[in-house]
Amino acid sequence: MSVPPPPREDLTVVNEDDESKWELVVFQVETRVFHSFRHVFTNTSEVFRDMFLLPPGQSDEGTSREKPIVLHGCVENDFASLMKVLHPEQIHVVDSKFDLSEHEWLGVLQLATMWEMKEIRELCVQSMFQKQVDIAPLKLAILAQQFRVRSWFLRAVRDILIGTIRPSTETLISSLGVSMTCRIMDLQMCTLAGVFGVPPGSSKAGSPRALVRLDRLRCGVCRAALFTQPRTCPGVGCQRVHSLEADACTAYVLASAVLMLQSDDALGFSVSTSSVGCIFCDRQLCAMVSCPECYSLASDTNRIFIGYTYSIVERAVEDAFKEELKDYDL
Ligand SMILES: [Zn+2]
Ligand SMILES: [Zn+2]
Repeated sequence: MSVPPPPREDLTVVNEDDESKWELVVFQVETRVFHSFRHVFTNTSEVFRDMFLLPPGQSDEGTSREKPIVLHGCVENDFASLMKVLHPEQIHVVDSKFDLSEHEWLGVLQLATMWEMKEIRELCVQSMFQKQVDIAPLKLAILAQQFRVRSWFLRAVRDILIGTIRPSTETLISSLGVSMTCRIMDLQMCTLAGVFGVPPGSSKAGSPRALVRLDRLRCGVCRAALFTQPRTCPGVGCQRVHSLEADACTAYVLASAVLMLQSDDALGFSVSTSSVGCIFCDRQLCAMVSCPECYSLASDTNRIFIGYTYSIVERAVEDAFKEELKDYDL
């Protein structure tokens, strides 16, 4: 036999402090009405925190279906996607992932950016375009600019620079603008495109050679630039200064000594120190050079690296777009 419930007046409210946390709120977005709790929004959004902090006016806006808070400037489908993320079902919690399409995630990101929902923004970025094949670099660059996502921006520009399928200059200009395209073009100097110069006039007798800028020679061990300052040729009677200026290719490498080098995140060539010469005196340019970063001595065994790694390209992109990236995050 079941025990009858105690009379109502005997009940003691013990959770009075928590009560307000579960205050209902009703929103209207376009033609749809959505129910939620105030704390869900104040906990995730700076903008809603400020909105709900305002002393309630005489109106009972947001308390019922008949008197919803009308949210302008957003699309009902995007809001519905956001509600899915804000109110996860058990299966989402168990699998720790949501069943949203790319289009839905972008809608959530749009609102999370507008309403300053930091954690939700982070979740969106983590949930999209994890694999290289998920999105073309140019499209990613446009989204990165729209939503100010740093990691997308660096990856997108890096992949435009080193990817196998490169957008044409015209496509870049129409999608990203002239200024950004110019900087991307300049950045090609840090990829293989800018590695070797053409030897002037007829090649000197002997092995064919390719001109190379001194600042393109990197440590074979840690890939740091070997020369950060102009270098004076050690050749007796030469003593010419090899500058690091963009237009000065005054070193050469013997083509026969160049080996192709490829790994998961690097592409380039490796050369022995004895094959790097001075174009003025035709003698070996760097008999003794140690890496300013890891102090390894470049030698015929510790070969010099000419090329790029993903991180070299990303650092160059970061440097070229320093100003824009200031108000990007993630
Ligand atoms: Zn090194
Ligand atoms: Zn010399």
